Amino acid sequence: MAYKSKKISINKRLTIYFTLVLLVGITTIGVLVNLIIEKEFSNYIYKQHESDINKLIENIQSLYEYNNWDLRYIQKLGIKYLNKGMIIEIYDKNKDLIWSAKEYDSNMCNSRLKDIKNGMNERYSKWNGDYKEEIFNVKGSNNSNIAFLKVGNFGPYYYMDNELDFLKEINKVILVVGIAVMIVVILIAIILSKSIADPIKRVSNLTKIIENGNYNKQIEYKSNITEVEDLVSSINNLASSLNKQELLRKRLTTDIAHELRTPLTSIQAHLEAIIDGIWDANPERLSSINEEVTRLVGLVNQLRNLSDFDSEKNQLKVYNVNTRELIKNIIYNLQGSALEKNIIIESDLKNLKVNLDKDKISQVVFNLLSNSIRYTNSYGKIYIKSYVEDEKFIISVKDNGIGIPKKDIENIFERFYRVDKSRNKLTGGIGVGLTISKAIVKSHGGEIFVNSELGIGSEFKVIIPLSDDF
Ligand code: ADP
Repeated sequence: MAYKSKKISINKRLTIYFTLVLLVGITTIGVLVNLIIEKEFSNYIYKQHESDINKLIENIQSLYEYNNWDLRYIQKLGIKYLNKGMIIEIYDKNKDLIWSAKEYDSNMCNSRLKDIKNGMNERYSKWNGDYKEEIFNVKGSNNSNIAFLKVGNFGPYYYMDNELDFLKEINKVILVVGIAVMIVVILIAIILSKSIADPIKRVSNLTKIIENGNYNKQIEYKSNITEVEDLVSSINNLASSLNKQELLRKRLTTDIAHELRTPLTSIQAHLEAIIDGIWDANPERLSSINEEVTRLVGLVNQLRNLSDFDSEKNQLKVYNVNTRELIKNIIYNLQGSALEKNIIIESDLKNLKVNLDKDKISQVVFNLLSNSIRYTNSYGKIYIKSYVEDEKFIISVKDNGIGIPKKDIENIFERFYRVDKSRNKLTGGIGVGLTISKAIVKSHGGEIFVNSELGIGSEFKVIIPLSDDF
């Protein structure tokens, strides 16, 4: 079975990521705080131990000052230090024993040391404190030895029960605070993830309206997240471009049906009349049928041309071409239809050789010139010129025809766009000539512009850069 990655909502994903990152962060901080506290506390205990010994030495010194080894007082001191985990022995300057904790109560000493060992082992499994004894010289005011103090305890440090309890309490506090912070953090992660995921979810739900084919709908959603705003405007743009395409597609279907039906109906009527014997199949009738068939072939060719441009077939075959010859040929070919409308074609063609695809550019000039003838009334005038300006080859086709309304100018290069359908019915165009022309000029690295005024005329300008590589 193929592996399929598990789908998970952005909301859940963000919550899990945030929570994981924050949990790792909090646990790390918790462990670090704990380590620092342990370290600082052990330093504090070590220093405390040193200060306890110093205080004991001071006490012994003051006892000597008063020349009084008060045994009861010394015993009290000894018991106090025993409770701190220190087994002490005090000797006079002749090293004769004055008081010893072990002699006083060896059971108590052993049990105190055992308690410390158990307590430490319980908390620190790796604790291996050594019991060691240290001897301190107690000096009098004239710096001579007055006594010796022997202190036995676990080193380098150890904790008494109350200190272990204190550490336990601290750990508990860290744990409770950690858990509280984790709960807050998880809540924040959920809220944060929701605030990021919700707008995306809403946009996605709104997109479903468009997905169901309502391309004319726009998503009305304001977000303070830039990416979401961008997403909304991209979807809206996509919808309006789909809407445009959809309208064009619908129009194409009706247009094609209409364009094909008219000649086909005429052919059918002619043929039926001939079959029924109403008309003779004389050359006149047959050539009228042939005319309609030619029109059909022309239409189908235009459609094929267009689909060629949709596929990758529009590879250029670039040669150095005599542009004056190229344009002159087309004028010659179209002279007949111009004369039918008494339209005069004037030209000013510079003798130029330019690198271009001859057949493709011929098609462009043919489209522009035939449009000018088509959309210019009888006795009109067309002026076609070609020249070089700023390293660019320019062909201009200007007529004093019917012109194009301002609102339509930006659309005439769209496929199947026709300014006025009824007007084109008479003229025979299906609205792909300019689309193809623009694609050809673009593939040459050039541009095509139109300047037109309703009732005055139009000028189409093709501008192709004089370069070897397109
Ligand atoms: P068509 O095959 O309909 O002529 P085109 O793509 O060549 O299609 O042109 C698109 C539309 O632009 C035409 O239907 C027409 O309305 C307008 N048009 C093109 N050339 C001219 C022109 N010289 N004068 C006026 N209108 C024009």
